[in-house]
Amino acid sequence: NTLISLKNIAKVYRSQNVETYALKNIDLEINQGDYICISGPSGCGKSTLLSLLGLLDSPTEGQYFIKNVDTNTLDMDQQAELRNLHIGFIFQSFNLIDELSVFDNVALPLTYREPAMSQADIQSAVKHALDEVEMGHRAQHKPNQLSGGQQQRIAIARALAGKPSILLVDEPTGNLDSKNGDAVMDLLDALNQKGTTICMVTHDLRYAGRATTQLKLLDGEIISYSQARQDTHTEN
Ligand code: ADP
Ligand code: ADP
Repeated sequence: NTLISLKNIAKVYRSQNVETYALKNIDLEINQGDYICISGPSGCGKSTLLSLLGLLDSPTEGQYFIKNVDTNTLDMDQQAELRNLHIGFIFQSFNLIDELSVFDNVALPLTYREPAMSQADIQSAVKHALDEVEMGHRAQHKPNQLSGGQQQRIAIARALAGKPSILLVDEPTGNLDSKNGDAVMDLLDALNQKGTTICMVTHDLRYAGRATTQLKLLDGEIISYSQARQDTHTEN
């Protein structure tokens, strides 16, 4: 059940007369329920790949399909709509708004949905998402009253509340100690077990091993791709 398909994607940055291929020859399919881990040295293109997948940036070459929609054919507004519908982001820095309660942080992206969601639907989606990360009892707290691990769980609830097709996760444990990091990774594992599709960038090999698909980048190219639990393995 193909969710995302990248065909011969390249991303070129040009500054002065220098061209940098941040990504090249990227062919990738992500199916519903996949748990992909992207790793590779600094500068290999991990952030660029997540940005393209999240429709935060466009490829220089190639095609990107989400549920068979060719994203090249969409204008900025249509891309934003598709992003709101399908993509949930989780960052290293939790990116919560300190002035808003936990509840309002999770609700915020839902207030931008087109067509607009009713207040009742927003309330129940937020409540459900907070329950999923076991933070329902902290709904009226402010982010700075919570530990880093709890803040990341709120950020995960915010991503889940919109029922995204895929979670794009960038170094989720980078700002956490190992205990909180383990708890956040356990939560992501549990979400994947329940069917959530995850594409994660992490340097931490202990966590990378939990994903079902390992994708390694070097100098903008996929140098290895292996699916652990499906028991197939290819390298090129
Ligand atoms: P990673 O996330 O793996 O560290 P990036 O995707 O950030 O790698 O970067 C891949 C390559 O593209 C690097 O050589 C980086 O310097 C370059 N790059 C990334 N963003 C830009 C940009 N906005 N302008 C110019 N070069 C960039
Ligand atoms: P990380 O690997 O920890 O994600 P990066 O070094 O890739 O951090 O940088 C994060 C962001 O900074 C990238 O997504 C990119 O947009 C920007 N960036 C990276 N390299 C360059 C560059 N050479 N010139 C301009 N922007 C860059």
